[in-house]
Amino acid sequence: MSFWANVQMGPADPIIGVNEAFKKDPAEKKYLLGVGAYRDDNGKPYVLSCVRKAEQKLLSENVDKEYLPITGLESFNNAAVKFAYGENSKPLAENRIAVAQSLSGTGSLRVGAAFLQRFLPKGTKVYVPKPTWGNHITIFKDAGMEVCEYRYFDPRTNGLDIAGLLEDLKAAPDGSVILLHGCAHNPTGVDPSKEQWNEILNLSIKKNFLPFLDVAYQGFASGNPVEDAYSLRLFAESGLQMMLAQSFAKNLGLYGERTGAISVICSSPEEKARVLSQLKIVIRSMYSSPPLNGARIADKVMNDPELLSLWYSELKAMSGRIIDMRKSLRDHLENDFNSKLKWNHITDQIGMFCFTGLKPEQVDRIRSEYHIYMTRNGRISVAGLNTKNVKYVAEAFHAVTK
Ligand code: PMP
Repeated sequence: MSFWANVQMGPADPIIGVNEAFKKDPAEKKYLLGVGAYRDDNGKPYVLSCVRKAEQKLLSENVDKEYLPITGLESFNNAAVKFAYGENSKPLAENRIAVAQSLSGTGSLRVGAAFLQRFLPKGTKVYVPKPTWGNHITIFKDAGMEVCEYRYFDPRTNGLDIAGLLEDLKAAPDGSVILLHGCAHNPTGVDPSKEQWNEILNLSIKKNFLPFLDVAYQGFASGNPVEDAYSLRLFAESGLQMMLAQSFAKNLGLYGERTGAISVICSSPEEKARVLSQLKIVIRSMYSSPPLNGARIADKVMNDPELLSLWYSELKAMSGRIIDMRKSLRDHLENDFNSKLKWNHITDQIGMFCFTGLKPEQVDRIRSEYHIYMTRNGRISVAGLNTKNVKYVAEAFHAVTK
């Protein structure tokens, strides 16, 4: 009798499923619009030049491979919070932000979730948008938190359901945790406007919510890290306590290096010290200390003026290519194929992903007839589009929607 006889086969991740189906397709002309990683105009993975230069510097410095402290590389942490909250951040100047380097966005969320589970009153709920990045729900549930949803996306407009969002959050218990995508919402690409962020902030103050911001695309969405930090700085400067999970996977292209940070805004330096001591205890038993290499690279880039300005220009180029592809896809649909449908949402949405509005049956048809692969919720990674395939993709969209 095996110890694992009762272990049932788990369901495959929907995105991995799309990748597998793509690999198996023998067609010569086939396109994968599933993966959430940047591709250049030739459809190839891209390593930023600022990262390559930072790596060369590290190599020439002959650095060691010693363990990092539990909370990671201090100079990286300082640079990461400055990048997120801004040079003139009030909670930063007041020494009220506890920060720990963690394993990219996912690890930062997981450490944050474990901390919440330990220290918030039992039964505190975490509200996530509907839909959200699928891993949010599993991360908080695995940490033992109860997860609820608030309305977010309106399929009739392919935009934000702000009335539904506010109604659901008003009905949430006071003191709940509210998970917010700071910019470039995944999977919809739909973000609140500045006015709507203000409304969400005011409600959060009124209801004594704990906002937990997930910022996985700072600088990658608009090309401007300050612009993309609008919501997070609005919340941080409001005097609210909040948490932030930061990822450098997309904006520095450090996907596999697992580079990120969890930060917690506290009410005083003394409280910060207590919170940090408990984050250390959470981390110690999970993975002891974070990986070294990605943090060193990010640290070099953020603390070297020349590399920093190179990074900013590369952020503009990556986000600019994505914005151009959105325009091009819409333009082909409306002007080359004379689609009768509205496609403004393609250019209204922001970031790596676009919620096309295609129905699951239409996604299936595109896959079998055009060999274009995406998740059945109609989400595409705009990074998968390029000047060579965008017209073909538009043709496929038109064929299944006319
Ligand atoms: N949050 C959101 C909304 C994301 O889209 C992602 C990346 N898919 C992450 C967090 C975390 O990614 P990573 O762990 O690679 O930083």
